[in-house]
Amino acid sequence: MSLNTQLIAWRRELHQYPELSGQEVATTARLRRWLTEAGIALLPYDLETGVVAEIGQGASQIALRADIDALPIEERSGVAFSSQTPGVMHACGHDIHTTVILGAALQLKAREASLPGRVRILFQPAEENFGGAKRLIRAGVLENVSAIFGMHNEPGLPVGAFATRGGPFYANVDRFVIRVTGKGAHAARPHEGTDAILLSSQLVTALHGVASRNVNTLDSVVLSVTRIDGGNTWNVLPEQVELEGTLRTHRGEVQQTVKARVGEIAAGFASAFNAQIDITWYAGPTALVNDERWATFATSVARETGYETQHAELHMGGEDFAVYLQHIPGAFVSIGSASPFGLHHPAFNPDEALIEPAARYFARLAEEALQHI
Ligand SMILES: [Zn+2]
Ligand SMILES: [Zn+2]
Repeated sequence: MSLNTQLIAWRRELHQYPELSGQEVATTARLRRWLTEAGIALLPYDLETGVVAEIGQGASQIALRADIDALPIEERSGVAFSSQTPGVMHACGHDIHTTVILGAALQLKAREASLPGRVRILFQPAEENFGGAKRLIRAGVLENVSAIFGMHNEPGLPVGAFATRGGPFYANVDRFVIRVTGKGAHAARPHEGTDAILLSSQLVTALHGVASRNVNTLDSVVLSVTRIDGGNTWNVLPEQVELEGTLRTHRGEVQQTVKARVGEIAAGFASAFNAQIDITWYAGPTALVNDERWATFATSVARETGYETQHAELHMGGEDFAVYLQHIPGAFVSIGSASPFGLHHPAFNPDEALIEPAARYFARLAEEALQHI
């Protein structure tokens, strides 16, 4: 069987049996079986789901990482190998990432004797809910590893296109919940209460001014209020309104400035309206910051391998790979998957033609990186 035929078969099997974050039990069993059949050594880390393998010998060590989880989405792509699990779909292409890194592992295994070090292969669970990287790191998978590389498919780029950037790439993700407590009243006698709905409406407008008036326009920031919840009928002014939303930034100072301003504005509104406003922040993944040298290196290897390379735009989404990069240097890259529908869409359908070239790319990147650490 050719490498491409094998990889497509694996990808379709993974696609048919997607599993949610932290529940990747059958996926883990499949990966263990396929790696073992290829003669690739599995490392005995204490993980409920996810697999760590290793190829090569010697002191130098780098890592390749793929994510393996799927999303709670009902598939509508129409492909013959659609999800067999109702309500669960590989709608972010993690089945593609897993297959690419499996393919790289096969390539590296074939030239194991001449590898100038060791390549650790990480199949990470729970990327979508941002817990998997931390779990693997806690288990010790980064010990003695000098650099790490990973990918995401990019539906907006054609197959054969490659993009990355040094420095910040994916965003800091914060979620906030704001609870506005006024004083309930008859809708016809608002002066006897404190109108939490009017206050909340003005607060949303004021919060949007933070991004445009407190942050340098050359810095990236998005603040979105995504839920407003208050009241239950037409003739009563409710006592409480809850707002929820997200903040996306790339620089820590911008993140801190916006969070501080949101707090100050809320306090000002609370005092002006004689109401109470409580804000709770939930930290998501931190910004993904690529190492400048490894991003340049990954790009030059891509160019040598035949990719059309370009400088990636800043990405406002979050990516759990960021956590590895807080511990060791490395680079995360985008590889074109030419899907007419985007990531997390029920009709997402990446072009499988990206798999084999990407597998060959990562094998070569690993091998060359070992010579440059
Ligand atoms: Zn995703
Ligand atoms: Zn993803």
